[in-house]
Amino acid sequence: PKFVYDFTEGNKDLKDLLGGKGANLAEMTNLGLPVPPGFTITTEACKTYLDSGEEPAALRDEVSAHLDALEAKMGKKLGQADDPLLVSVRSGAKFSMPGMMDTVLNIGLSDKSVQGLAQQAGDDRFAWDSYRRLIQMFGKTVLGVDGDLFEEALEAAKTAKKVAVDTELEAADLKKLVTKFKKIVKTEAGRDFPQDPREQMDLAIKAVFESWNGERAKLYRRQERIPHDLGTAVNVCSMVFGNLGPDSGTGVAFTRDPASGHQGVYGDYLQNAQGEDVVAGIRNTVALAELEQIDKKSYDQLMQIMETLENHYLDLCDIEFTIERGQLWMLQTRVGKRTAGAAFRIATQLVDQGLIDEAEALQRVNGAQLAQLMFPRFDEEAKVEKVGRGIAASPGAAVGKAVFDSYTAVKWSRSGEKVILVRRETNPDDLDGMIAAEGILTSRGGKTSHAAVVARGMGKTCVCGAEELEVDTKRRRMTVPGGHVVEEGDVISIDGSSGKVYLGEVPVVPSPVVEYFEGRMHAGAEDADELVEAVHRIMAFADRKRRLRVRANADNAEDALRARRFGAQGIGLCRTEHMFLGDRRELVERLILADTEAEREESLKELLPLQKQDFVELFEAMDGLPVTVRLLDPPLHEFLPDITELSVRVALAESRQEPHENELRLLQAVHRLHEQNPMLGLRGVRLGLVIPGLFTMQVRAIAEAAAERKAHKGDPRAEIMIPLVGTVQELEIVREEADQVIAEVEAATGARLKLSIGTMIELPRAALTAGQIAEAAEFFSFGTNDLTQTVWGFSRDDVEASFFTAYLEKGIFGVSPFETIDKDGVGSLVAAAAQAGRATRPDLKLGVCGEHGGDPESVHFFHEVGLDYVSCSPFRIPVARLEAGRAAS
Ligand code: ADP
Ligand code: MG
Ligand code: MG
Repeated sequence: PKFVYDFTEGNKDLKDLLGGKGANLAEMTNLGLPVPPGFTITTEACKTYLDSGEEPAALRDEVSAHLDALEAKMGKKLGQADDPLLVSVRSGAKFSMPGMMDTVLNIGLSDKSVQGLAQQAGDDRFAWDSYRRLIQMFGKTVLGVDGDLFEEALEAAKTAKKVAVDTELEAADLKKLVTKFKKIVKTEAGRDFPQDPREQMDLAIKAVFESWNGERAKLYRRQERIPHDLGTAVNVCSMVFGNLGPDSGTGVAFTRDPASGHQGVYGDYLQNAQGEDVVAGIRNTVALAELEQIDKKSYDQLMQIMETLENHYLDLCDIEFTIERGQLWMLQTRVGKRTAGAAFRIATQLVDQGLIDEAEALQRVNGAQLAQLMFPRFDEEAKVEKVGRGIAASPGAAVGKAVFDSYTAVKWSRSGEKVILVRRETNPDDLDGMIAAEGILTSRGGKTSHAAVVARGMGKTCVCGAEELEVDTKRRRMTVPGGHVVEEGDVISIDGSSGKVYLGEVPVVPSPVVEYFEGRMHAGAEDADELVEAVHRIMAFADRKRRLRVRANADNAEDALRARRFGAQGIGLCRTEHMFLGDRRELVERLILADTEAEREESLKELLPLQKQDFVELFEAMDGLPVTVRLLDPPLHEFLPDITELSVRVALAESRQEPHENELRLLQAVHRLHEQNPMLGLRGVRLGLVIPGLFTMQVRAIAEAAAERKAHKGDPRAEIMIPLVGTVQELEIVREEADQVIAEVEAATGARLKLSIGTMIELPRAALTAGQIAEAAEFFSFGTNDLTQTVWGFSRDDVEASFFTAYLEKGIFGVSPFETIDKDGVGSLVAAAAQAGRATRPDLKLGVCGEHGGDPESVHFFHEVGLDYVSCSPFRIPVARLEAGRAAS
């Protein structure tokens, strides 16, 4: 393969091969922008080097050839004594990655060529400044010398000279500093600073390769789920100098504001400076707008180039540039990072400018960003004291008293206190405390740590790996930078969207985006902010594009109404268990304990009107939209008292010789119904088949409610769903009874009800025999939560806290299969069942009602396999709508 590409040979689509920096340097070169010439060594070369442990001969030859060409173009040789060509060696992977080797500038300078550079530039100071920078950067990043030693020597030089900033050091001072720096290298690295320019370059290239496997880089990749086998490219770029005096300088810029998306002049500039000086904060930078006064010609040219870049990349770009004696050079560009809010604004702005169309606008935003915009947030106006920052592991804004162990978290929260659980790291023993807490803060661990995984699963705010915080769980306190001590009970606030940690209570305000979805803020209204306007428009794009319909999981009228406001096109899952709880428990107990037919019928008869009323309200809230009602699913013991509690009651009554006949009967029933593994026991359709009259009562309540709504000129569209079916026979029996009840209600009321009957597909056997099941089902709803459990053979409640972290860390899961559908396993079963079902019944309606219905990646999958709708919790509906639109465009 070809290992080296000249900047003129690449383009922006070659990021895999040339890394982001290299691909974009090539793109700019080919756009005719002023980029200092150079070449890029490919990620393939890096991989080959890392695999074999040595530079392949072909690579060395190709680098030589490209260096020759570069020297010819520039008219001077690398490190040439009287007029040296200098280069930078810059790392650049496909994704920008902290922890990779830093760039080394001014390669090619030596004791000899520094003289030549001074003479050519007519500036001694500049030459020695460049040389000391080389030794400093090279010493630190290539030879592994502690960077502080150089910084301290530099500080000492400034102190000796009684000056404040480095530009006030003169040539002679810098020359002395070079001697000092070389000594540091010799002592610390055990070798002389290399004087041979090619050796400098080769060592730097190798160091970049090796930094791919540095500990920090590996950690970052694990956290961000970047594959470990991509490798990094290396860019060799001829130097331009911003440190040649006041008519030179270096800066960074954005083509628009990455926080708001507004177009304008955003950036920083620093005169007489090189490389990282701008961001390192060694001297005060000026706002980019001031460059217009300093160097109008370069400023105008820069504005022109920024426009060219925007029109070319059709997006916000960030750039690095340098001015050398009035001549502008472009050193880097990329499509810039932005906040979630800016992403929405920029996408609509670009549509308005005619640069992109609606379909493309949908690709510029995503559901995760929308979800982020929907979390309540800390009031930005509030006066707060930030004391630390960790990894934003699970979004949200949480306020509470700091507690340092799970026990206290539970105890305090029971007495009504809001608490934040602070730990060094969490483990399965902390689960109770995590559930009790408003949020979780840890000082160790990354995005896949136990705390992060479990918190995300629970939808709980979490900041992890806040390393500046010293957590002392024994003494129940933590020390924040600056020495302040947070004791148990002190209030802290954590922001899971930014990772920031604050002392005291930061006020929380609802998100304007949720206010908009709730209908409390209107797009187009005068006070609506730009963000709401942008979200409104993007949602409209998505709704126009999407094929998947979006329904809600909602059990009562209140949730249903909210879901409707959020854009739900129906209810995909109405659970009915709550209709058996509360003050109806007693009726249910009687039903379960019934010895005779008559007793059982008596309690069912009492339950009927209550449940009918629930359905009337629900159908009214969702008038005109489909409502899928799932018949009773959970095991019966969930409706009976706790076994231990009841045993105690019986024992007490016995010892006091009080009458306890009822308790005893109940206890016997509890024992009878007790199951080793309730998830796989007597539940779902099995209940309907062994408890006569239970399902028919529910069906009757649904049918009568529908008839009543019709009588009131309503438009009820109920769908009856049978859970946990494994074979078509189960469904056929239940169906026959249901059809009969519906016919009876129709006859009695004179209404035509058009109730459809379908099933959940949540057992592997159901999926495998979907073709048969479709004979008796008008719709399938994939229950992907249970299907994931049964296909993998693990129960969610038992595994998430115990071994998922280990699985994530070992890379067995990229992400929990409960969060994103496991496409290869569970997903392929869904796809096959959908196909088999439709083969039997072409108009079979297909939906999904697991947690996955609101997960962006899963929504794309369900679109691809041709489902008709996804159903998710009301709050996730906007995300599902957006992602369904993105999937279709
Ligand atoms: P990073 O990936 O950290 O941005 P860069 O490779 O972009 O690292 O380089 C670090 C700094 O050095 C940047 O400010 C960049 O503009 C500057 N720089 C890199 N190469 C050159 C060069 N050939 N001439 C002048 N400045 C350079
Ligand atoms: Mg850097
Ligand atoms: Mg850079």
